[in-house]
Amino acid sequence: MKRAIALIDVNNFYVSCERVFNPKLKNKPVVVLSNNDGCAISRSKDAKALGVVMGAPWFKMQELVKQHGIIGLSSNYALYADMSNRVMTTLNDFSPNQEVYSIDECFLDLTGFNRDLKAYGQEMRGRILKWTGLPVCVGVGSTKTLAKLANHIAKKQSQFDGVCNLNQLTEDELNKVFSNIEVGEVWGVGRRLASKLKVLGINTVLDLKRADPEYIRGQFSVVMAKTVSELNGTVCIELEEISPPRKQILSSRSFGHTVRDFNSLAESITLYMSRAAEKLRKQNSFAGSVHVYIRTSPFKLDEPHYSNGMTIPMPSPTDDSRQLVKISLWALKRIYRPGFNYAKAGVMLSEIVPKAGIQNDLFSQPVSNQKSEALMSAMDDINRKMGRESIKLASEGFKRPWKMRQENKSPNYTTDWSGLVRIGDLNFKLR
Ligand SMILES: [Mg+2]
Repeated sequence: MKRAIALIDVNNFYVSCERVFNPKLKNKPVVVLSNNDGCAISRSKDAKALGVVMGAPWFKMQELVKQHGIIGLSSNYALYADMSNRVMTTLNDFSPNQEVYSIDECFLDLTGFNRDLKAYGQEMRGRILKWTGLPVCVGVGSTKTLAKLANHIAKKQSQFDGVCNLNQLTEDELNKVFSNIEVGEVWGVGRRLASKLKVLGINTVLDLKRADPEYIRGQFSVVMAKTVSELNGTVCIELEEISPPRKQILSSRSFGHTVRDFNSLAESITLYMSRAAEKLRKQNSFAGSVHVYIRTSPFKLDEPHYSNGMTIPMPSPTDDSRQLVKISLWALKRIYRPGFNYAKAGVMLSEIVPKAGIQNDLFSQPVSNQKSEALMSAMDDINRKMGRESIKLASEGFKRPWKMRQENKSPNYTTDWSGLVRIGDLNFKLR
């Protein structure tokens, strides 16, 4: 059966999140800036039209800023993470098989869905807009690489109305579309590889699709050869599905920027494990084992690669953040190697069992430790009432890798009571 894989991606995600809560930003050129208000990492359509490129340093565009009134916002990751969760939860209803690929993109497996997928994609767009206020585009193809490309087409070519299903096109139609897209737009083909491909006369997506995979493997790598196969509809990259929440709890994110030092990784692992442990307690379970992993980007072929993970069985199942964090940091110490640009880290809790009826290890402390239970539930209560991270473990850090100078940051509209939008603040001009 032909696979149908959808890639749903929020348009200009960070800028769109800001616009949901601040209508003044609509139809204005807006950019969201990276750490320390350094470079543009998300641009509104209007800002793109003014020639603001991705990664452009803020201090270098001051002339343009004055001329056109470009609004530069500090990044507000608490807001984006919360909005991301809302989008992903909403999309989860559309397929049992979901891979959250990044903060604003996910894959859904729609294989065997007996319905018009173009209409289904429109349904997703409508529901996400209604429930979160965010605009998304949907691309469908028979492989992940084709789904990514379909999403790009849905975004750039207005006749698709936000949803592009490549599975509906004939081979001739497909080739025609591909002949008009630059090869650099293909998933995993960056600017550097694109220029190397162009030297070999491979300029468009169609050229790459028609290239001999063996030749490509010789010139580049097995990764690029897989890309060619995927463009021809052969699945080489499977969905990295997450098992049902009852059995495993996963918490991971790609970093906005590469991270090199141990302390920054330790802080992010602590944060992910704290989140995972919170979820664990919410469903009244204990975890019997902990998995920790770190990796560099699989797409940066010119940089040294490293990825490693470690699974540690717990002496006895627990839901205590302190114990879970301690063990994950112990594992991190063993898999960490200096000298690499890390792009992602994550933790997974497994061997999850219900809290009731736990068997204690003969040689360890009893797990139903009343002190620990009281402390954890107090922690969860405080964070629920006062906002996320009101109270946390110290190893989560105070100068995190993503913590930064923020001169123009919006309030945490959705995760902090004091950040709630007040109607009077919006200064609507009523006429
Ligand atoms: Mg996006």
